[in-house]
Amino acid sequence: MADLLAERFLFRHISTGDILREEIRENSCRGQQAKQHMNQGELVPDELVVSIVSHRLRDPSLQRQGVVLDGFPRTLPQAVMLDKELTESNLVLNRVVLFEAGREVLIQRLTGRRVCNRCGALYNIVFSPPQSDGVCDRCGGALMQRQDDNLATVQERLLVYEQQTAPLINFYKQRNLLVCVQTEQSKEDILLSLIRHLGIE
Ligand code: AMP
Repeated sequence: MADLLAERFLFRHISTGDILREEIRENSCRGQQAKQHMNQGELVPDELVVSIVSHRLRDPSLQRQGVVLDGFPRTLPQAVMLDKELTESNLVLNRVVLFEAGREVLIQRLTGRRVCNRCGALYNIVFSPPQSDGVCDRCGGALMQRQDDNLATVQERLLVYEQQTAPLINFYKQRNLLVCVQTEQSKEDILLSLIRHLGIE
């Protein structure tokens, strides 16, 4: 959804998960620090993620362009640090989106997710399978499963979400920034509902 939104409204898209996976591929110092946590379904330390985001938020062109933060913040300390960074970068947080789905659907979406190792296109073996097994429709690349999308790690990620990320719901509700989007509908309908909730049609 972040990708689709950014593409449609030409927002910058900052996905902390994508950046961390890139750092792991490059075997950078940050990547080495993050890898173990990610493979076990834990969050990576706040300071590491905040340094990734704050550096990118300091780009002055974002004030014109706008930005979608994807997968960030995921803890209360990150949310507090985000406030500080936004003020320093002269940016305002307009909305925070909570995508809602039942536990079983989430498990199917995560464990069934496949990613093209060449172009990054996303599939799901249940909900949106490729035309031929294991092959990307768009570029013919091989489809892979993320290391943290196996069932055991997904269950851990859902637990971590409840403990560390769910408290953000009230944090942003109290500030009147939260919008909830029901995601047990088609991709197109989720996007339309998201755009309506954001009031950016
Ligand atoms: P995602 O691609 O958003 O599903 O994130 C994959 C993994 O990257 C998460 O399970 C965490 O281990 C790590 N990660 C991504 N974003 C954050 C964040 N904001 N705070 C801590 N860890 C994160």
